[in-house]
Amino acid sequence: MSLPDRAALGTMHGKAAAIAPPFASLGLSIVVPPDLDTDAFGTFSGEVPRTCSMLEAARAKARAAMAATGLPVGLASEGTYGPHPVIPFLAQGYEILLWLDSRTGREIVETLTDPDPCYDQIEAASIAEAERFLSRIGFPATALVVSPACDRTRPIAKGVRDMDQLRQLIDARCNDGPFVLQTDMRAHLNPRRMTMIGQLAQQMADRLARRCTTCSAPGWGFLRRGPALPCAWCGSETLVPGGEIRGCTACGAETPVARQDGRTEADPGSCPLCNP
Ligand SMILES: [Zn+2]
Ligand SMILES: [Zn+2]
Repeated sequence: MSLPDRAALGTMHGKAAAIAPPFASLGLSIVVPPDLDTDAFGTFSGEVPRTCSMLEAARAKARAAMAATGLPVGLASEGTYGPHPVIPFLAQGYEILLWLDSRTGREIVETLTDPDPCYDQIEAASIAEAERFLSRIGFPATALVVSPACDRTRPIAKGVRDMDQLRQLIDARCNDGPFVLQTDMRAHLNPRRMTMIGQLAQQMADRLARRCTTCSAPGWGFLRRGPALPCAWCGSETLVPGGEIRGCTACGAETPVARQDGRTEADPGSCPLCNP
């Protein structure tokens, strides 16, 4: 199966600016349907909770874009931001990009972890208290979500990119207690996130350029992590990640790929039996 010349992108947050260029090098143009309400599938600021997994949300957006454009192939991205799983005072972002071909039902998923996202928040009672925060997040290139500290899921303003507007919002609320300023995570309002989405689109385009050696379908690449490394002393399974499994979601061909550092055994120090 060959690549289509067009794919529908389910977004209303300007992601095509980052996603289209890598695909253009494959001769594939990105079509964005106007008026697609992707916020119906969940918002970062919490008014519409995302009730399904990231992949399900991306699937729903891609399908909505395909239905709106009549194109058989769709793309959608989804991101999640929060505390680092191991170092809670650091933030981490995780982005996925889905390629969905309705002619075969085939899906390809590329993912990316951002170790240094522009994701932050502060509780403050005045602009002066927020000044260092504002310069750290790159305001006004990065926009803000402003909420009362007593209820962060009910923002009083989103996409704030203007100091005068921010002052007015805060002055108008000065008797109602402190407020919370959060980085707006919508792609067109968060330049760091847009850069990451561009990198992810490049990963997907590179992958679509790699053909399966078994069935020659485009899209050979990462499928899942391989088994964990065995302990060098006792051979039992550790928590140290092994290599990865790469393959083709069209025909099911797959092959294990060793870790980049060449390690095939784990240090006994990370073995739950030898070092409990
Ligand atoms: Zn062991
Ligand atoms: Zn194949």
